[in-house]
Amino acid sequence: LKIILTTFILAFFAGCIPLQAQKQIIPVLLIHGGAGTIERGMLTDSMEAEIKNALQMALDSGHAYLEAGGAAIDAVALAISILEDCPYFNAGKGAVLTDQGRHELDASIMTGRNLDAGAISGVTNVKNPIKAALAVLRNSPHVMLAGSGAETFAESQELELVPNAYFTTPRIRESWERSKARGYAPDTNSDYTKFGTVGAVAMDTEGNIAAGTSTGGIMNKKHGRIGDSPVIGAGTYADNTTCGISCTGQGEYFIRIGVAKEISDQMQFGGKTLQEAIDYTLHGRLTGMNALGGLIAIDRDGNMALEFNTPGMYRGYKKGNTSKVEIYGNE
Ligand code: ASP
Repeated sequence: LKIILTTFILAFFAGCIPLQAQKQIIPVLLIHGGAGTIERGMLTDSMEAEIKNALQMALDSGHAYLEAGGAAIDAVALAISILEDCPYFNAGKGAVLTDQGRHELDASIMTGRNLDAGAISGVTNVKNPIKAALAVLRNSPHVMLAGSGAETFAESQELELVPNAYFTTPRIRESWERSKARGYAPDTNSDYTKFGTVGAVAMDTEGNIAAGTSTGGIMNKKHGRIGDSPVIGAGTYADNTTCGISCTGQGEYFIRIGVAKEISDQMQFGGKTLQEAIDYTLHGRLTGMNALGGLIAIDRDGNMALEFNTPGMYRGYKKGNTSKVEIYGNE
């Protein structure tokens, strides 16, 4: 009787422990700094080292936060805000210029826990657009705010505001002047060389997935143009039952296909694995349309994907004790 009783008590308590606590979830963080024609020899050694350092710093900070039990959504915002402050990426400081020579920034963030999402578009003075997107998610009844309304909201959230010129670097100004002189048409593939949008996808110790993306858009874009990065379902998506995704590339194509949601839907309704869904959407459909870009993704089991159809993509991941930062396609 004693044995039966003990077994019963043990079984009872085991049943009371939630499933999440029983299986240990290893936190994962993936980041990207844009896909494009990034080939060996294009970057100086010191630039390459600085870019890799910045990626590693964003990974280390975001991952340490996850390891300490922090939520995926905050780790995503943290990693992205570090990349926004780095002048080498096309987000925050160092963002590209519009045809009017100004910066208009887009960002979005989503949590797969309950499908909450926040996005801002066309902001000109918010130092860290990803923080404004997170504030839209947390402190507004809306999903997306644009232009001056987004800026007023950011101010009400006491986010740091900066003059538009803060985002300009000499390197970006020169490349804008060159593209102007060439009569740059931002919708042609030949001119679509380097991107630089930043993004992050994370899974925390509770198994929640989050994804976010931040960008200046494309060089010399028309004033008012909005790409895929702030569009939930196109450039960013997260759902705990499928995956989390952040995209980079020619936004016009990513919006038309609804890339991030299409990948999630294939897993949800088509029973595909993350890799099969990426093969279909990125390597199949997008590549078939001659659209350039890439993405990072984590599925519900913590499997990672860092994929692109361009020569390179700034990217990195950290999972447990393994971490890697890469730039070129054939590393
Ligand atoms: N997807 C971004 C956009 O179209 C650009 C990029 O990823 O570089 O705005």
